[in-house]
Amino acid sequence: MIIDSFPADSRADTPRLPDTFCEVQDVDLHMHSTASDGVLSPGELVALCHRRGLTHMALTDHDTLAGVEEAAQAAAQAGIRLIPATELSCQWRGANIHVVALLPRGGIGKLAEGLIRQAQARVIRAEVIASRLEKLGLDNALARARVQAGSERPLGRPDFAAALVEAGLVKDRASAFKKFLGSGKPGDVKAHWPFLSEVVEWIGGAGGVAVLAHPLRYGLTRRKRGLLLDAFVDVGGEAAELISGFQNADLTRDLARQLEGRGLYGSLGSDFHFPGGPLAPGAMSPPPRTDVTPVWLHPALTGFSAR
Ligand code: AMP
Ligand code: MN
Ligand code: MN
Ligand code: MN
Repeated sequence: MIIDSFPADSRADTPRLPDTFCEVQDVDLHMHSTASDGVLSPGELVALCHRRGLTHMALTDHDTLAGVEEAAQAAAQAGIRLIPATELSCQWRGANIHVVALLPRGGIGKLAEGLIRQAQARVIRAEVIASRLEKLGLDNALARARVQAGSERPLGRPDFAAALVEAGLVKDRASAFKKFLGSGKPGDVKAHWPFLSEVVEWIGGAGGVAVLAHPLRYGLTRRKRGLLLDAFVDVGGEAAELISGFQNADLTRDLARQLEGRGLYGSLGSDFHFPGGPLAPGAMSPPPRTDVTPVWLHPALTGFSAR
């Protein structure tokens, strides 16, 4: 698979991204579309980003690049720089961890096989989740999740959450995760995901930058988060999201110190999935004063940041 990245890089009018987080605005490197569990099509997402004044974006659908081509075309039209990307599911010490792959232009090498493996893992995992939920009272769970997905894309836990709500077993999706699908619950099936080291290797093989997604959202203590960051660096990870949506300012400052201490680049994104909630493209907490280097200064991403 070849991806023609940075389709808008001939546009001299796109502003250059700043060298520090302090001045950053109009960038969002973590968003979803209908290619995974987002509600807007890739084209609709780019249109919304354009309306909200974004100049640089990454589409980071779960375990797939299926939406990137449509998004890239829309972004080129809108004069937005788009970096092809995906958010890969993996496991580390029994936790389900997400790693964003930011991908420069060219072939994606072993990542292509990795993405096929991820799609297969989702199929088998969905069957396991379905059979567990059936035992808990959701009959025909797989078919119900498919109806909720509304397309043939690989299923995720949000589809089962929607099915549980639709069947009246829980009042909303948050309760579905709390009771059935969240960390440690029966529908939290991780065994099919590759290890952290494997996904980071795929990303390196594709010439991309591996970004540990939303480090504050795994329910880890500071110490254990440090161990995760150490493990990530050990296997070749180079960046982590300093900002993911809205975060507590004290925790963000603390996270910044953890990234500084390990020489990790920092990324930022809303993790936008659907309109109407608190999140929107480009909406996130302001970055703290920090020495963390923005990920767009990584040598692999020079075409994106127009430097
Ligand atoms: P999966 O990729 O199938 O493991 O599903 C994970 C996705 O479920 C995440 O990317 C979120 O979009 C969504 N999710 C995770 N936790 C929650 C939650 N507590 N409430 C609502 N959605 C959630
Ligand atoms: Mn999601
Ligand atoms: Mn995630
Ligand atoms: Mn995400």
